[in-house]
This record gives sequence, structure tokens and C-alpha cells, in this order.
Amino acid sequence: MMIPNRKEYLQQQANYGQKIMGVLPALYPKELLWAFDILPAEIWDPPGEILRANAHLQATICPVVKRSLEFILKEPDIINAGYLFPHTCDSLQNLATQVKDLIGIPASVYTFYNPKGTFNKATRQFYLDLITDFKTILEVEHGPLDQKKLATVCELGFQIDSRRLEIQTARLSDQLDLSNVEYFQLLRAGEYLRPEDYLNILDKVMIQDQAVHNQTRRLLLSGILPPHNVILTFLDDLGVTIVAEDLLAGSRRVPITPLDIPEDPFDYLTDRHFLLPPCSTRVSGLEERIHYLQKMIAESQAHGVLFNIVKFCEPELFDHRFLVKNLKQAGNPLLTLETELQPGFSGQDKTRVEAFVEMLTEEVRV
Ligand code: SF4
Repeated sequence: MMIPNRKEYLQQQANYGQKIMGVLPALYPKELLWAFDILPAEIWDPPGEILRANAHLQATICPVVKRSLEFILKEPDIINAGYLFPHTCDSLQNLATQVKDLIGIPASVYTFYNPKGTFNKATRQFYLDLITDFKTILEVEHGPLDQKKLATVCELGFQIDSRRLEIQTARLSDQLDLSNVEYFQLLRAGEYLRPEDYLNILDKVMIQDQAVHNQTRRLLLSGILPPHNVILTFLDDLGVTIVAEDLLAGSRRVPITPLDIPEDPFDYLTDRHFLLPPCSTRVSGLEERIHYLQKMIAESQAHGVLFNIVKFCEPELFDHRFLVKNLKQAGNPLLTLETELQPGFSGQDKTRVEAFVEMLTEEVRV
């Protein structure tokens, strides 16, 4: 599985004259950007030291915001079409204000309000109005929308979603011969590849007819982002497979069921939004989330749950206590890791993961 390196790929795209927009987590109508020939380069956890961002932020802000601001302050030359800040949480909304109105970044800054709560007639119309307004705003800088092109990229987005669902389902039933590291590398390649390139890679993923490693310890992973590669490799070495994930950077951005092939693109994008799985950042009900996780545990036959919590992430921490309490009561072994998105793995966390896996091993033997 050949996945282009994020930095090299984006640099190459910029050299070709591709318009590239830096997009903060997490939900936005990416098909609209594709239709304007803009490549979204998602900014979640850019590497490097935090040198200047702290001067603009309070100490208790999450590392996604800190790292993103540091990246923006470096004025990377690959970002040539501005930045988009979806309203995912208060921290990101405040960051948009900082970047747009206070720091004065010399690039276009767009915001996109994501409606919270569940589907009903009013929220559907609200979302439809939002994407129509966003289209109008993009037209000011990028010219009139080509409706035919939007229909084409919606079709591409539909194929990507369908293939992602197939791959997720294959992972649940061990029909995917990919390590944890490879699986999450594949999942995250969608954050920066052109849709045609991403679909091409997804299509090459082999789904086996039979289970390939059903003897391993099996985990469900929940959180914003997957753990650092060092931790994923460690789990691989211990014979632990993350068979299902409930990540904001992962399955929470893929509709629960495949939609029909899009006819009207705006209707399709609206329907798609309300078919996403429950998520803390969309203020989904706690009961709905617990029901969803329990269903995923049953389908994947996970032996335990790993929560990978980004430090100071308010939306996730708000749900976390309730989820832990209920999943524990249902007899699921759990481990929570907290991350500042630093590279590597602390000795203390390593010991905790080892002890957790040992406990799972004993439960599997019983
Ligand atoms: S990690 Fe949490 S608090 Fe930080 S930007 Fe993401 S959702 Fe917001």
C-alpha cells in the first residue's frame, strides 16, 4: 500500500499550481471545496515545536489548537487559498477569531458553522442554507460554481464513503490484512489527498474472503485522533488489533449507511451530514453515543475499549465520564490515555498499556 507522504504530496500539488486550503477539524462540506478546484489540507496535529502560539493562547487549550496556530503562524507557502475553521468546538471558534481578527494572518479566513443536535425538518433546512451561503462566499474569490463539477465530485465523495464503509466492515470481521499503523495511515490519507488519488488507494486495499487474524486481542478505539505511531506499533507487537474505531478523524465522518447515488448535490450533502454517527462535537445525546458504542463492540467482538483523549478537549471530556461508567457497568475492560500529541510514548503509559493488554489476555483465556 503506497501512500504518499503528506508534506511531499502537498508541496508537489502547490508546485503544480493547485489551490490548497488549510482546514481545521473536523466537519465541512469538502465536496464544495473540490468543486471550486480547492484541495483541502486538513490540519489536526502538525509536528514541530510550539514556539509562538503560546503567546496567543491560554494555558488550558487543547494541543490541536496550539499546534494548528503554530503551523498557521509559520505561514506555510503550500497554503495558498486561505484557512477554513469549522465550528467544531468553542476552542476552534475562538481560534478563528484570533486568526481572523486579532493576529491578522495575511490569508483569507473562512468559517463554517456546523449545526449541533439531530435531524429534523428545521435543522435540515438550516444546514441547506449554510452550505448555500458558504458556496456564495467561495464564489466571491473563486468564481461561479460549476454545478456539473459539483455533481461529479459528490459522486466521487459517495464512492469514497462507500469504500470506507466496506473497509471498516472488513476490519470488524478481520478480513483486512493491515497492521494498526497501516490501517490508520490509510484512514488519515483522506485528510490531504485529492479525491481521485484517495479513491484509487482505497480501491487497491485487499479485502480477504476469510478472517486473517482472529486470535489477537481486539480493541475498540474512541477519541479525536488515533494514538501516535509508536503506540500503534507497540500494540501491533503485543498482538493487539484495533478492530473498530470511533474517532472524529475517522468513522465519525463517514455516514452510518451508504446514501443513494446523489442526484441534487445540495440535498445529497445535507442528507449526508445528518447520517453521520453520533459525536461529542455535534452534541449528540449521551444515550445515543453509548448505544452506538455498545453496538460497535458487539459487532467487532472487541475485548476492550481504548479511549485516546486529547488533553483539554472539552467536547470529549464532557462525554467521557458517562461513557466510561456505562461501558464498565456492561463489563468492558477500559483504558484511557491522555495525549498532548507529543511524539512517542511515556514510560508510564507504556506500563499501563502492557498491564491492560495482559488483563485482556487473561480475559480471553478464561
Ligand atoms: S481536540 Fe477537542 S477541543 Fe481541541 S479542537 Fe478538537 S474538538 Fe476542539
